[in-house]
Amino acid sequence: MANRVYNFYPGPAALPLEVLEKAQSELLDYRETGMSVMEISHRSSEFEEVVISAEALLLELYGLSDDYQVLFLQGGASMQFAMIPLNFLPAGTVANYTVTGSFAEKAYQEASRIGETYLAASTKENGHRYIPRPGEIKISENAAYLHMTTNNTIYGTQWKYVPDCGDVPIVADMSSDILSRELDISSFDLAYAGAQKNLGPAGVTAVIIRKSLLQTAADNVPAILSYREHAAARSLYNTPPCFAIYILKLVLEWVKEKGGIQSVGKYNSKKASLVYRAIDESEGFYRGHAAVEDRSAMNVTFRLPGEELEKEFLAEAANEGLVGLKGHRSVGGIRASMYNAMPMEGCRLLSRLMKDFCSRKG
Ligand SMILES: *Cc1c(COP(=O)(O)O)cnc(C)c1O
Repeated sequence: MANRVYNFYPGPAALPLEVLEKAQSELLDYRETGMSVMEISHRSSEFEEVVISAEALLLELYGLSDDYQVLFLQGGASMQFAMIPLNFLPAGTVANYTVTGSFAEKAYQEASRIGETYLAASTKENGHRYIPRPGEIKISENAAYLHMTTNNTIYGTQWKYVPDCGDVPIVADMSSDILSRELDISSFDLAYAGAQKNLGPAGVTAVIIRKSLLQTAADNVPAILSYREHAAARSLYNTPPCFAIYILKLVLEWVKEKGGIQSVGKYNSKKASLVYRAIDESEGFYRGHAAVEDRSAMNVTFRLPGEELEKEFLAEAANEGLVGLKGHRSVGGIRASMYNAMPMEGCRLLSRLMKDFCSRKG
């Protein structure tokens, strides 16, 4: 499509063209209802089918059994920051957090308003350039859970392993790398992701929760913030974000058509290596923010030798149809967010521009 750009925005982010086209084709008349999927009751059989098949597809893509339940909630990943301690931090226990970036920090701060917390590891001193090594993670006494952020969207680091913390449940914020690579998420008791990076449009948050954890949820929290209530109602406790869930379902079908997580993961690592190679071969012109071994395949963060050059680079990129590359203000420089929907060609063009720009200005 001539007028579509390569969208490197960190979130909301690019959606697969095929998904947008499918949604377009069904927009005015969803499955012969004579209505848009936005106009039908969330209690209709058509919409129930959307929710049920999206739940099943997410479990299927991760190879999870029905020991897990999928929920589609609102309030973004940020509402999970509050719901997790409200439901799973009973008095006398301690919520453990690994703080590896800004969202991890927010999750930690939110839990600290609700109950007792413990900083199991932090990379703040180091500008969040790396992921803690197993020996750096210290779990407190009476740990309720350990929280981790599998991909640090702003800093561009990604966990390549899941810490071993015995019986302590692991809760993972996967907002910026869900469905992007093979990861044994059966090590997690709860995984969640705001949809707007890898799953669909803003407005819905996917939660994958182990039923045995669900059973331990507090029952003295407001119903709207209760995992138990949402689980009992199969995500239809109140009116859900119907259109967002519908698009999410189309995205899951798209991932399945692409061959599932394994093949999407391979594709993503090829995309990332194109851009990282351009950094590494620039002889210091581009300086990556993340430690090499902890580099994210989703968000590539780097600086140029000065802010003027960074502005020039962004302008040249925009001219070539590569948009959304400005880094977050806390890191500066450039951030290329390359979620599942970013095609290889976008990364190829970016790496070509990087090489060319470096040879002219370096
Ligand atoms: C974007 C993001 C969030 C924030 O999500 P909201 O849906 O805006 O609340 C949280 N965690 C991570 C890792 C993110 O990338």
